Amino acid sequence: MIITIDGPAGSGKSTISKMLAQKLGISFLDTGAMYRAVTLQILNSKTPIAESAQMENLLDSIELKLDGGRIYLNGRDVSGEIRAAEIDRNVSKVSELRSVRVKMTALQQKTACRRDYVCEGRDMGSAVFPDADFKFYLDASPGERARRRAEQLKRNGMLASIDNAVLARLKDEMIERDRQDTARELSPLTVPVGAVVIDTTGLSLRDVLQKIVSSVDKK
Ligand code: C5P
Repeated sequence: MIITIDGPAGSGKSTISKMLAQKLGISFLDTGAMYRAVTLQILNSKTPIAESAQMENLLDSIELKLDGGRIYLNGRDVSGEIRAAEIDRNVSKVSELRSVRVKMTALQQKTACRRDYVCEGRDMGSAVFPDADFKFYLDASPGERARRRAEQLKRNGMLASIDNAVLARLKDEMIERDRQDTARELSPLTVPVGAVVIDTTGLSLRDVLQKIVSSVDKK
């Protein structure tokens, strides 16, 4: 069984996907973490973000492993590093590249064919798993999404405090990332055909989880 959960940054899809996978006793695939790990490797190696032989070589040399909510890049746990602001600023440019998407899509399909999965990202229900058993699309207002992102950064020790200036900056960055993810040519962020759309603004995590579980149960 494959359940896909797509949506923009800060829509709550990571947290909800983890909770859902745990509740159903199945695995969870955070595909945003995969694009972030590739971005980290590109930035560390100072490879220009463009299609090139150098980029192909870099992609060939990358080994990604997702295990128990952690992500390993060539054997190194990079779960914390991939949440840095520098990655936020570059990941959408990296995820536009055809060579990157081809590699990530193949890896995602290979991983999820082995067992039952909740797969979370931007193109799960539209491009990677168009025949998924259940598809959801989560959204929320930009203000709420920025607030959630700020709280996540603070929890992870990447933000000292939250004030209006921080929220405004995060909101602008998020809107720009969504614009790039929606406007790109390959597998853009979109509501997949057949997806149940849930606006999570003002809803608790429990409410959202309940909506998803009852929609799965109904089928
Ligand atoms: O979900 P998260 O915010 O970690 O995703 C980071 C970025 O990875 C997105 O902004 C998008 O550019 C890219 N991404 C993607 N396709 C996916 C998942 C993430 O292009 N399935």
